[in-house]
Amino acid sequence: MDFNLEQYSKKINKSAAAAKLLESITGLCEKIDKDRINLMEVCGTHTHEIFKSGVKAILPKKIRLRSGPGCPVCVTPDSYIDGAINLAKDKDFIVTTFGDMLKVPGAASSLKAEQNAGADVRVVYSPEETLDIAAQNPDKNIVFLSVGFETTVPASAFLIKAAEARNLSNLYIYEANKTVPEAILAIARHPQVKIDGFILPGHVSVIIGANAYKPAAAESKIPGVVCGFEYIDILLAINSLLTLIYEKKAEVVNDYPRVVTAEGNRAAQNVIAEVFETCDAEWRGIGMLAGTGLGLRKKYKKYSAAEKFASIIQAGQPARAGGQNAGVESGCRCGEVLLSLIEPPECPMFASACNPVNPVGPCMVSSEGVCAAYYKYGTAGADIEL
Ligand code: SF4
Repeated sequence: MDFNLEQYSKKINKSAAAAKLLESITGLCEKIDKDRINLMEVCGTHTHEIFKSGVKAILPKKIRLRSGPGCPVCVTPDSYIDGAINLAKDKDFIVTTFGDMLKVPGAASSLKAEQNAGADVRVVYSPEETLDIAAQNPDKNIVFLSVGFETTVPASAFLIKAAEARNLSNLYIYEANKTVPEAILAIARHPQVKIDGFILPGHVSVIIGANAYKPAAAESKIPGVVCGFEYIDILLAINSLLTLIYEKKAEVVNDYPRVVTAEGNRAAQNVIAEVFETCDAEWRGIGMLAGTGLGLRKKYKKYSAAEKFASIIQAGQPARAGGQNAGVESGCRCGEVLLSLIEPPECPMFASACNPVNPVGPCMVSSEGVCAAYYKYGTAGADIEL
């Protein structure tokens, strides 16, 4: 069946298009020789749209949509949160951050709690705002919490280059940046995770381009489809994934060409490559994944809060184990949620001890968090087997 992307992007007759797509999806499901088809939406924004629009409820029961680790706040380990809190508690520091990080609980506190207690924690909408804060407060150390995927890393890179150009010696970033294609490959290699196809994040793909996923698809033999953020985009991507699965093609298809190109944004890629280099990174609940992080290059190491203020960051932090649910003392099962080994309602604390007002883990805090999606939109229509 031939679908007209142009028609969708102009928002013409979407319900008729959705009906056609659903018919095609149902037909493909019947033809695919599997009892269950596991598709992972890697991105938390997709998870929320899937719930909000009701896509999950209308799909054939054979399709199981699994949520992945595509929320940068959710995959940030406890040790980083506690380090950021340690910096905020020090009167010599001003910490700047995106709002999602504020309520994420550390071992004994949160940035929000410290802010309420008098710590200078400032929410910014762009890392660039940190430049003026640094210039206006020369007697303080200003630290931006650089937590993100390829979507936001260029802004952190520009911040470092601007700090260099303005000769600001009191500005730092505390790095916890991660890369998506390598994480997808790590999920594909995980012995307990069984995924038949990946719904790939649209905004990350704007930066890195659709071709960036090809090595992971080739090695894992699992297809992927780059997907936009409207419900019709998601249905389109599911239809394309099922087509690839049926035809046994481990390829990458770009179903978001109105925004994403094959090669991505070269200018953004260049600024990332100039300031950052690949490193290993710890993922909350998953553990250390080789080659999935972005650390500052030697030339820019002087801007690394992790290097400069290591003793402050690590003060009082408990020794933490590695591996699944690494360093999670609270009983939060975010690690298993992020690997789609369990669904949030299977966590004993879901909607009781853990809720958006009193979150136990970041998956309940972030606007992209899986547990927050389940809590906000309910579980009606979800194919959960408790
Ligand atoms: S419901 Fe709360 S405690 Fe349970 S996995 Fe989600 S965030 Fe963690």
